[in-house]
Amino acid sequence: AFKAWVIEKAEGGQSLAFRDFDEADFMEGDVTVRVTHSTLNYKDGLALTGRSPVVRRFPMIPGIDFSGVVEASGHPEYRPGDAVVLTGWGVGETHLGAFAQKARVKGDWLVPLPKGLTPAQAMAVGTAGYTAMLALMALDAHGVKPADGPALVTGASGGVGSVAVALLAKAGWHVIASTGRAEESDYLQGLGAAEILDRNELAKPGRPLGKERWAAAIDAVGSATLANVLSMTKSDGAVAACGLAQGMDLPTSVAPFILRGVSLLGINSVTTPQPKRREAWARIALDLDLEKLAAMTKTVKLEEVGRLGEAILDGGVRGRTVVEVG
Ligand code: NAP
Repeated sequence: AFKAWVIEKAEGGQSLAFRDFDEADFMEGDVTVRVTHSTLNYKDGLALTGRSPVVRRFPMIPGIDFSGVVEASGHPEYRPGDAVVLTGWGVGETHLGAFAQKARVKGDWLVPLPKGLTPAQAMAVGTAGYTAMLALMALDAHGVKPADGPALVTGASGGVGSVAVALLAKAGWHVIASTGRAEESDYLQGLGAAEILDRNELAKPGRPLGKERWAAAIDAVGSATLANVLSMTKSDGAVAACGLAQGMDLPTSVAPFILRGVSLLGINSVTTPQPKRREAWARIALDLDLEKLAAMTKTVKLEEVGRLGEAILDGGVRGRTVVEVG
């Protein structure tokens, strides 16, 4: 048996306990991994608290991403001792997850630990940072460039936002960081933000078209914020939508699309095919400043992660949280 956080169905909701879990109760998979690090993402907050029904199987071990060392493998690409990383694929939602000393998963879901990153650094990036890179790649593929104007990041003090600010700044963008936490201005400037925008300016439903303020945006917030981001995007600009911290809705109009040629690019990190996954991790290892990564990361022990779900959902977590698995 090994230690794990386990969610069970309970009367009126769910229960959460840190307890022994038996390998015999693992789900199907051809690679067993000794987990060394996981992280806390927004979705983990939803699972830990049960605030939104992301967990689709009980019992569930939450935790949507991990790095670790292969213990046993029936997959041709992986051997015992290999360092690996996993994000997505429903791990921590429909497949037993990462807040545990061990995980059994499909080898096809894994990527080798990217060269240049330690297992702890890979999880400091985690699903949030990897998603920020997918968003940057989508903007690049669309063809928007720093010369076209500023790039906005919403939810900037959060996990996706912090990595997005650092990556966009490194790529030469004039970064506008939108945050509800004015006290994090110095932090965001340290990551490379050139301007800070109070998120209240974007939070309420606005006009179909506003003043053109940015050529690109990475949005972690959704809802009225994303609608306003679109309405203030310059002609032929693009917005990568990756989150719903404000809400799942999108109260917008077609005006930005048909009158300004603005594009809305969807980002889904969960089922990204392997080639794009590996490209994203390789670019992270190359382009993400590791000092900035350290500045946005704090570390907690596996035993502590169970009580952090509320904090991340309430916007109380800055940057990234690595979970050290003993
Ligand atoms: P996070 O660390 O909690 O960051 C979210 C940030 O959004 C907060 O730090 C806060 O930033 C802002 N925020 C929170 N509540 C808000 C509200 N009511 N209105 C406006 N802004 C609010 O979470 P994360 O792990 O970075 O994830 C961010 C979002 O991306 C989540 O919705 C998550 O589900 C989504 N996501 C999607 C994918 C994908 O595959 N598409 C992958 C990863 C994450 P400030 O305090 O700076 O304002």
